[in-house]
Amino acid sequence: MASLSPMMKQYFEMKKKYPDTILFFRLGDFYEMFYDDAKLVSRELDLTLTGRDCGQEERAPMCGVPFHSYETYLARLVAKGYKVAICEQMEDPALAKGLVKRDIIRVVTPGTVLESSMLDESRNNYISSVCVRGETAGVCFADISTGELYATSLHKNLEEQLQNELSRYSPSEILVNQAVLDFKKLPKFIHDRLCASVELLDEADFEQSEAEKKVLQQFQKDSLEQLQLDDKPELTSALGALFAYLKQTERTGVERIAAIQMYSGAQYMRLDLNTRRNLELTETMRSGEKRGSLLWVLDKTHTPMGKRLIRSWILQPLLSPAAISRRLNAVEELTEDSVLRDTIAEQLSGVHDLERVMSRVVYGSANGRELRALEGTARRLPPLRTALKNVQSQLLCKILEDMDPLDDIADLVDRAIVEEPPFSLREGGIIRSGFSEELDLLKGDMSSGRGVLAQIETREREKTGISKLKVGYNRVFGYYIEVPNAFKEKVPETYIRKQTLTNCERYITPELKQLEGRILGAHDKSVQLEHQLFEQVRKQIAGEMDRVQRTAVAVAQLDVLLSFAQVSVGHQYTRPIVDMSGKLELKDSRHPVVEALLEAPFVPNDVTLDKDQNRVAIITGPNMAGKSTYMRQAALITIMAQIGCFVPAASARVGITDAIFTRVGASDDLAAGQSTFMLEMVEVADILKNATPDSLIILDEIGRGTSTYDGMSIARAVVEYVADKKTLGAKTLFATHYHELTALENLLDGVKNYNIACKKHGDDITFLRRIVRGGADESYGIEVAKLAGVPNKVIQRAKRILAELNRNAPADKKSVRKAKPQLAEESMQLTLTPPGEKEALERLRSMDVNTLTPIECMNQLFELSKLV
Ligand code: ADP
Repeated sequence: MASLSPMMKQYFEMKKKYPDTILFFRLGDFYEMFYDDAKLVSRELDLTLTGRDCGQEERAPMCGVPFHSYETYLARLVAKGYKVAICEQMEDPALAKGLVKRDIIRVVTPGTVLESSMLDESRNNYISSVCVRGETAGVCFADISTGELYATSLHKNLEEQLQNELSRYSPSEILVNQAVLDFKKLPKFIHDRLCASVELLDEADFEQSEAEKKVLQQFQKDSLEQLQLDDKPELTSALGALFAYLKQTERTGVERIAAIQMYSGAQYMRLDLNTRRNLELTETMRSGEKRGSLLWVLDKTHTPMGKRLIRSWILQPLLSPAAISRRLNAVEELTEDSVLRDTIAEQLSGVHDLERVMSRVVYGSANGRELRALEGTARRLPPLRTALKNVQSQLLCKILEDMDPLDDIADLVDRAIVEEPPFSLREGGIIRSGFSEELDLLKGDMSSGRGVLAQIETREREKTGISKLKVGYNRVFGYYIEVPNAFKEKVPETYIRKQTLTNCERYITPELKQLEGRILGAHDKSVQLEHQLFEQVRKQIAGEMDRVQRTAVAVAQLDVLLSFAQVSVGHQYTRPIVDMSGKLELKDSRHPVVEALLEAPFVPNDVTLDKDQNRVAIITGPNMAGKSTYMRQAALITIMAQIGCFVPAASARVGITDAIFTRVGASDDLAAGQSTFMLEMVEVADILKNATPDSLIILDEIGRGTSTYDGMSIARAVVEYVADKKTLGAKTLFATHYHELTALENLLDGVKNYNIACKKHGDDITFLRRIVRGGADESYGIEVAKLAGVPNKVIQRAKRILAELNRNAPADKKSVRKAKPQLAEESMQLTLTPPGEKEALERLRSMDVNTLTPIECMNQLFELSKLV
């Protein structure tokens, strides 16, 4: 250590403070990394590893990224899960005496990114903090780039609830105490499914009294009661740990987070990760793209705030009919007035990311262009307010009330900042003339100095008779007089030679030097003053954070409501009746996404579910008939209604649904080491444990992953369980290829059969896509195979095999249909021929009694009797 150069000693001091980060050490125009950091980063980012003298014999390994384009490198490292500490030069190296002062200005982690180039404008970037103690968990989610903070307490079933909460917000970084990592499945879930980076903090970081202090300080309150936190110690701890961490990483503080939004699970429809994926709410299952999802159909928003809000609305359908009606009333009002829609859309399309620009203003990193963007946005607000002048619905009126015209901010920016400010704050040219007298004087000095320079040029030309004499400037020598070689003889003695070039010589004079001092001094001063003035303006705007934030939220809501209205008009959706009836009655409903993707017309269908005679719909029909589409359509329409959007149906009545559960198709989680069947059963178990009579359950072909009898038994037992009010009695759509289950309609209360109609002509099949009452009589598998282009030879052979099987097993089918309900075990025994008997039957059929000898007959009979 002793032999290290002073700069390297400084480096190690910084590194000691943040040992688990990669240190970006600012050296002139680069951020340099040294030693292990350098080796790691050169490997991860494919950068050249060089070396630097460090006072020791061996050069220190080093690699660097240019200051002006560091964000891309930073983004890649953070995306790979590294934390990066940024160490800045705290003074101008040109003015520094000795070693330049440096300090860590922030630590960038996945959840604390502020750079707009590293953030997706259509998504929030949450950092979560979770504190588990015993049977209670405090959970919060903050987006420091927008200032949002959501918090809740969970009790009971913690592991499951935490999975749900975390996956709903999908944070990029999660701060936890040890108890969170002690759960059996949760850590793996966070790692594999959420792909979030986890930061285990010391128990001391969650310590109660310290946490309380931090929380009160953050929100400038004197009691936890004012924040509704007095009875939530775990949540207070989680928040305290979050603020401590943010303070440590941001260094500048986290003033942007000014309020907590408390929520409880009882406010939103429960949608677990599986269901959100299965229903393709925000992205498709196969490609993970937005196109093909519900969000894709509904999102016609114009602003980044709107884009983020519509996503969170879709993931959080409401449970209060009153709150839903407020949204529906606003959407209806907008659907009725196309001029209003167009005016709002036009203004919204000029609105920038108010929330994130404001964060950068508050954190002191916004540049001139961003302030101009703020001004441009603020100019859209008065016309928006005028457009909304006559609105009637409560929610639109509230939006109008919350939307501040922000004209003072717009005027301030307009007065202070030039129209096209440079990207950097270091070179001046940002502040408008007329804003500061002092600055104008300095600039006047500079330009008068330049005027004098021009005068000197003319005067010297005349005096010396050198017509080609020029006054010029470079960084090394400052201002000089340049004389071409041909006129060398005429150069007066008072000129001091400074530089010899091939064709000319450059000179200075005392007069020139003096002038130079004046001009450059004024320049430096003016750049410095501009910086100061800019910071003042930025601070002044930061002081208006609350107004800007409220306006941003109002704009976001307006944007989403307008999007709902535009889509509703464009796709002819209707307003649903949302009530507590427990019914789902849809007339001529359509699947919003399939309809939007399909070139052919979509065939509308009715859905009739209630808590009474129509609890369970068993849906049969060939593959490809449209069973999944039909079931998802019911679920999606329920969600659309509960987020306050119109729905694709001729008419719709949607009783509030507290949760939607789905078990659909093969899951892609085989990599996690579970068999398809095991996974299917885990999901079924989860549904049966968590569903309530107010839930909607979608089960697609359950029991498929095991042998026919097992599968059918399980499928039937599940139907009995969900249908029975004593056990569950939830609204259920159940698609199955076990035609035998259609017998349940006559045996169980509340079960109805449906099938999706098809027409068969010879080997060919036409899908009619109409849902009709009754079970399908055939499965048409072979016809579908033919439609899919399976060779004719295979089709014909399959038909022969099927005929053979049907001849052999008629008894099975009939007996299944006769099965009594509830006595699942018994009835299955009755209905299904035990394997021994089946084999005996088969042997009997294949026996040619006419050719057997009496003794052979005896032996065969003996064998058969052993089988039954
Ligand atoms: P299943 O679940 O019965 O195998 P799907 O629901 O996957 O069938 O439907 C197969 C395809 O049929 C869908 O991709 C869609 O293109 C089309 N389809 C389904 N329902 C309809 C409908 N009501 N109108 C038009 N096309 C439909």
